[in-house]
Amino acid sequence: CRDTTASLPVLGRDVTVPLVTGGEVTYAALDYAASAPALQRVWDDVAAYAPYYGSVHRGAGYLSQLSTDLFENARRTVEEFLDCRDGDQVVFTRSTTDSLNLLAAALPADCQVFVFETEHHASLLPWRDARVTYLNAPRTPGEAVATLERALAERDPHGPALVCVTGASNVTGELWPVRELAAAAHEHGARIVLDAAQLAPHHPVSVRELDVDWVAFSGHKLYAPFGSGVLAGRADWLTAAEPYLAGGGASRKVSRRVDGGVDVEWHESAARHEAGSPNVIGAYSIASACKALTEAGFDALVAREQQLIDTVRAGLAEVPEVRVLSLFGDDAPRVGVISFVVEGWNSSHFAAALSAEYGIGVRDGLFCAHPLVRTLLGSDPQTQGECGAPEAAPGEKSLNAIRVSFGAGTPDEHVERFVRAVK
Ligand code: PMP
Repeated sequence: CRDTTASLPVLGRDVTVPLVTGGEVTYAALDYAASAPALQRVWDDVAAYAPYYGSVHRGAGYLSQLSTDLFENARRTVEEFLDCRDGDQVVFTRSTTDSLNLLAAALPADCQVFVFETEHHASLLPWRDARVTYLNAPRTPGEAVATLERALAERDPHGPALVCVTGASNVTGELWPVRELAAAAHEHGARIVLDAAQLAPHHPVSVRELDVDWVAFSGHKLYAPFGSGVLAGRADWLTAAEPYLAGGGASRKVSRRVDGGVDVEWHESAARHEAGSPNVIGAYSIASACKALTEAGFDALVAREQQLIDTVRAGLAEVPEVRVLSLFGDDAPRVGVISFVVEGWNSSHFAAALSAEYGIGVRDGLFCAHPLVRTLLGSDPQTQGECGAPEAAPGEKSLNAIRVSFGAGTPDEHVERFVRAVK
């Protein structure tokens, strides 16, 4: 396991930051769930390619052809990484948020959408123009499946329906029963999209095995730089929909009509939803990260991450004032994302102290999952805790939580320092 970490170094491991207590310390990046540091390998691949990049798809020059090949090969790499079915499309987007909004824009008429209230806002909010059923937070994976089955059984069975579910929570790190939810969706004639923003960096995601219709994820959480994401899956709804953006690249043929208007034939491939000059470096870096993770092997990565999870959870369990937030309980399988509150502490002050006194970067707040965090904190669902709102005063019940998250390239020292600091 240690060798695996050594072979997957990330950027920024030598960065030092000043401490309020004087001196400097190497920065402990423990906010992977927001944005993971890029793999050194990704950075090296991008640096090697950068001098050669050119316009894609329409350029006649050598570098344009090379870039077009690399861009389209990146699509194939993602297809393999996600174990896509024949005929599935891989659309390059800006992020998970962008991918899910693209799918929301491509919903067939009268589509019903089913989504748990526990979702990240990126998977909770894009469907609001459709008929949405928000499902209550389940307390076990089995309850999640039963809740969905009940809701689907009551739906209008003739119209199209979509279930949107996250693979791993960005708050609790807990894994959701994706395969079972997909089976329930399909049994009731619905489709399912998997928000794999937190799952894909930590676990293999097989579209075929999970039997999900679409998967969305972001490059910047998968050890690639910001600015690129993926929506992969069934082509039919995407091809039937109007292009997400209208413009060059999405259109195959544009002609003036005799009445003076303009007719457009849109592409039926992924290009339909990729109008404008694409983020070639972004796609290339996602593909590089996919290759690096596959070569390192998810078995080794998961085993290593489990060691880190065990260290953090055991350390937090020794502090009586700490309450770890969990929906499914202690035994639930999880990725390296752990949120908690500290009794008697304002979470924002606590996170600020971890940074200022120990050089540790974590996150505090509601993590773009307001309904879930409020449920876990037991706060008033209507009024308390907002992005940017003042946190509870010291001694008052916390409105926010603290989140620590890690993954490939995280050294033992970072999580050990974190546990020491909390203690
Ligand atoms: N879904 C989940 C579960 C997430 O954790 C995040 C990011 N925190 C998103 C979606 C949105 O990702 P992005 O900001 O890259 O669009």
